[in-house]
Amino acid sequence: MSVRPGPTFDALTAELAALAQTSAAEPPVVTRVVFSEADLRARAYVKALCTEAGLSIKEDAIGNTFARWQGSDPELAPIGTGSHIDAIPNAGSYDGTVGVLGGLEAIRVLQRAGFRPQRSIELVTFTAEEPTRFGIGCMGSRMMASVLSSQQALALLDKEGRGLEELRAQAGFAGALESVALPTGSFHQFVELHIEQGPLLEEEGIDLGLVTHIAAPASLRIIIEGEGGHAGARLMPGRKDALAAAAELILALESAAKSSGAIDTVATVGVCEVFPGAVNSIPSRVHLETDIRDTDGARRDSVLNALATACADTAKRRGVRVTTKLVNADPPAKCDPAIVQALETSAREAGRTYKKMVSRAYHDSLFMARIAPVAMLFIPCRGGVSHRPDEYASPEWIAGGVDVLARTLAKLAG
Ligand SMILES: [Zn+2]
Repeated sequence: MSVRPGPTFDALTAELAALAQTSAAEPPVVTRVVFSEADLRARAYVKALCTEAGLSIKEDAIGNTFARWQGSDPELAPIGTGSHIDAIPNAGSYDGTVGVLGGLEAIRVLQRAGFRPQRSIELVTFTAEEPTRFGIGCMGSRMMASVLSSQQALALLDKEGRGLEELRAQAGFAGALESVALPTGSFHQFVELHIEQGPLLEEEGIDLGLVTHIAAPASLRIIIEGEGGHAGARLMPGRKDALAAAAELILALESAAKSSGAIDTVATVGVCEVFPGAVNSIPSRVHLETDIRDTDGARRDSVLNALATACADTAKRRGVRVTTKLVNADPPAKCDPAIVQALETSAREAGRTYKKMVSRAYHDSLFMARIAPVAMLFIPCRGGVSHRPDEYASPEWIAGGVDVLARTLAKLAG
């Protein structure tokens, strides 16, 4: 069994191109927001390919799609693989889609090789990995893992004020939202193929990244209220400048992340809105959005705690009011050593180079890790570029990923 660009593999290249053209924007731009007309056409396309490959298809109440290659022992929990096909506005062709169509190709490679799995293999297409519509990433896998309850999901609205209930019904999905949650053990193991979305593999000339940890973000929203006034008439003693207080907090966060003792700790203030925002007016109110990530939950939370302490300290010292809201704090995931081992053995057998690495972006696998052992397989993408129309993964890189995914699925499914 060998997967190389060539006549057979060209089908996958053509399918990726066809999926990329199923978009609300002109090629090469891909825009495919969940439950949009383009998303529904893309879903139909992928389901048709799965049916053609002899897989049986099930969809849950929000459109998470499971295409099953029945194993010889259908009672056993299946091996899962897959990713997402929704895309943010102005995106490219490979984020998520390589894991879905590449996962399908891995199944077809095994079928062509005459392999018969003992455990069923299920290709999962997750609904709404991107936060574009509902403002929350990985909605489908979050609900599968019971991290997002049906009540919380019902409260989500898109920018036009339309809720999940209306949008899913319009897309043709029905049934109790509670039924989306899957018990632990529903999948024996899960492995996701994905582009790296970073530059390391290409820079180092390595075929594959075997993901050992998936970092997860915590986000704290900070509102600082001071006292405004005339920038000339108000003298420095007694000022309650909200932006000067915010500056202290931004530096306190940077310093907490730098001194965590680990290179994997990162912290960012990506939003700083100043009110009233006039050159001759003392800032009276500042809104900060922070993003703190790590592969280790306790270490990340200690940075979060250091920031909370700095908020209290700055408020007291400067006489400003600081209020915080924890917007989200998903736990990081550690990949399953047995799956990583299977990936490693497969990479060696396939003659592909690999390195172990951390996923710094998060993926559906982060939530699948709550209900099943997971791992991820990364392939290079040109320049580390993602979420842009010029996102690119070569057929050779994709073939490497499919090759090793197929071998791994064969090992896991027995
Ligand atoms: Zn993705």
